[in-house]
Amino acid sequence: AAKAAGKDQATLYDVALRVEQAERMRLLERLRESVDAGEFAVHYQPIVSLDDDRPVAVEALVRWTPPGRPPISPDRFIPAAEDSGLIVVLGEWVLRQACADAVAWHRRWGTTLTVNVSPRQLVDPQFTTKALAALRDSGLPPQALTLEITEGVLVKAGPEAHQALLHLSALRSEGVRVAIDDFGTGYSSLAYLRDLPIDVLKIDRSFMPSDNTDTQQAALVRAIVDLAAGLGLTTVAEGVETADHADLLRDLGCERGQGYHFARPIPAAHLTALLADTDTDTIHPDPATDQDA
Ligand code: C2E
Ligand code: MG
Ligand code: MG
Ligand code: MG
Repeated sequence: AAKAAGKDQATLYDVALRVEQAERMRLLERLRESVDAGEFAVHYQPIVSLDDDRPVAVEALVRWTPPGRPPISPDRFIPAAEDSGLIVVLGEWVLRQACADAVAWHRRWGTTLTVNVSPRQLVDPQFTTKALAALRDSGLPPQALTLEITEGVLVKAGPEAHQALLHLSALRSEGVRVAIDDFGTGYSSLAYLRDLPIDVLKIDRSFMPSDNTDTQQAALVRAIVDLAAGLGLTTVAEGVETADHADLLRDLGCERGQGYHFARPIPAAHLTALLADTDTDTIHPDPATDQDA
């Protein structure tokens, strides 16, 4: 009986897998059409200085809203875009759009821009050329751009990691900064923090304590902040959802925070309004106009 049940489970699993593959194919087809149809938008989430809660940077986050359908989360379509290689085209579009949007914010308020870059983009031999073209065409200075990569990209030895390293080193020599995104969730070899061309650590949101009694999480955050400081890296905490989170991070000496406590990702025009409204100490985006709420 156990064997039969096991067999049934395997069959169910195969069916589930096929359904998932079929769904993924459909998703991909839609994605391909959508790049052409202009269904993508870039939203921006403020990154604040924890000294005074003022926005100093924005992260570009791509949004996909197929016509007549609810928005599809990047966590669903980015992996499909990566598998298919479409991320190379989509990522270049995001980078160009984000640089074009950010140049006005940078000129007026000194705001810097941070953009996610997928591993597939970094093995494209043209990546440095494309990134420099996006900067030049927009007028955004390289010093105002940070590229966010995940730990895995640079840690694996081999030609792909080598290509990625060449791009990051070339761009850094032009003034572009490099951030490790979701830090602490990947293959954390501490040696790479010392050896690799990086400037910023973004502490993954899974490290935020659930409440004030969660001292183990706080200890991990403290360790990461101290480590980064010792290596001369800037720290940004992701997933700052409460005033307690912000207080804790400030106490631990974390420089920057990003999360729903400060602001959600919002369209470019809303971000402009938010940056213009620098009179208040904390940012309160209008929930009525907040598409991500
Ligand atoms: P990420 O780069 O780590 O971006 C942060 C994610 O956390 C965003 O999700 C953001 O909306 C969400 N977030 C911000 N504050 C909070 C908070 O306080 N609590 C919680 N629970 N979440 C918060 P989003 O926009 O859905 O993007 C998901 C992921 O998709 C990103 O994670 C990134 O890995 C990827 N992604 C988004 N845009 C792009 C892009 O243009 N290119 C590439 N390659 N990846 C992208
Ligand atoms: Mg990111
Ligand atoms: Mg992240
Ligand atoms: Mg992430």
